[in-house]
Amino acid sequence: MAPRKANQAKVFYTESLMGRVDLVMALAPVRTQSFEDWPFDESDSPCRPDKMSEAGFYFVGYSEEPDLVRCYYCRRELGGWEPNDDPWTEHARRPCPFIKLGKKPEQLTVEDLYRLEDERLAHIFMTQCEAKLEELKETGKSVRDKIIGLPNSTTNAKQTRSKRKRK
Ligand SMILES: [Zn+2]
Repeated sequence: MAPRKANQAKVFYTESLMGRVDLVMALAPVRTQSFEDWPFDESDSPCRPDKMSEAGFYFVGYSEEPDLVRCYYCRRELGGWEPNDDPWTEHARRPCPFIKLGKKPEQLTVEDLYRLEDERLAHIFMTQCEAKLEELKETGKSVRDKIIGLPNSTTNAKQTRSKRKRK
């Protein structure tokens, strides 16, 4: 499976307003329910809905990426699942505070939940900041290109000064 590019997720982050949109996905049974149209729902499949949910994922697929999932905690999006993929193993290939903790959802303490939520919100905030920074860089570059493209602005200024001197 392949991780989704960060800029593709930008719209979601902008809309999510500090992660409130999917707050309900903190609950593993709700994450499991999101896999209604999941293709791997056989009981012996390592990536059946309850196993995906147990590994922190919920379903965000759409027509072009029908098996796309997102981790509630690290926000990473993965698609291209194979029937024998193990969600914990696949998830562990990337840094994630939930996976690092190594507990199943039913083993999480209230303290764990608060810490994970802190890290989740910090991640969302950082992503929003990075997206804004990229936007500002692009605006800066565009303004710079316009200034450079102005017709002989430096030469004209010199000519005006030298004409004044001659008077
Ligand atoms: Zn994660």
